[in-house]
Amino acid sequence: MKSIFLFLATFALGAVAALAVRTARHDPAPVSSFPVSGLPTPVSAAPVSPAPSPVSGLPIPVSKSPVNTVCAICGMDVDPKLPTAEYQGKTIGFGCRMCPPKFKAEPDKFGPLYLRNEVVKR
Ligand SMILES: [Zn+2]
Repeated sequence: MKSIFLFLATFALGAVAALAVRTARHDPAPVSSFPVSGLPTPVSAAPVSPAPSPVSGLPIPVSKSPVNTVCAICGMDVDPKLPTAEYQGKTIGFGCRMCPPKFKAEPDKFGPLYLRNEVVKR
């Protein structure tokens, strides 16, 4: 009879111990890895947007895109590979290599057209 009590006592102790170990193992794992949501979110939390510009603080003078999309003198679409020009603080682009010299010769004639993205009427 005594042995049955001993067995029950050890069984209960073992069960309590196992429960304690299980809860001790079970609880801290999700808390340490994902504190907010108890469920593990494997991939979606990974991509965090990086810093907007790695060289922040430095002025970026050259890479301004032109305000116009059409070359005012020839009417062609602005070619981003061609050099741009400045007019009244705005960057304007050209559609061909013939137009920058014409613009520089008469910037006040063509400049406003470039800024309004209009083409010279002939
Ligand atoms: Zn042009």
